[in-house]
Amino acid sequence: MMHYSCDLCGKDMTPVGVERYVLKMEAFAAAAPVELTDDDLETDHVEEMARLLCEMEDADEEPDPLPTCKKMRFDLCRACFSKFVNDPLGRESVAKFDFSPN
Ligand SMILES: [Zn+2]
Repeated sequence: MMHYSCDLCGKDMTPVGVERYVLKMEAFAAAAPVELTDDDLETDHVEEMARLLCEMEDADEEPDPLPTCKKMRFDLCRACFSKFVNDPLGRESVAKFDFSPN
């Protein structure tokens, strides 16, 4: 039997009747190399693009540890899903954190 728990608060969502929400996220670099089609391959642009890409990589002196594309999937309980849709980037909680008197 599949076991589900909320990826945010850990609430057990396995029992039948517990609402479960799936969150899928895809983050990618907008400047990631484009996928080449057959049409592209038949033109001279490919060589030019390859050259430009190489130049861009050479110019980038600092190694970039970030993946160019990352897909994520989360299971959320109703409460956490509700929180997410109201504040997808967590800006509200970040602001609260900044103002907390520690
Ligand atoms: Zn939750």
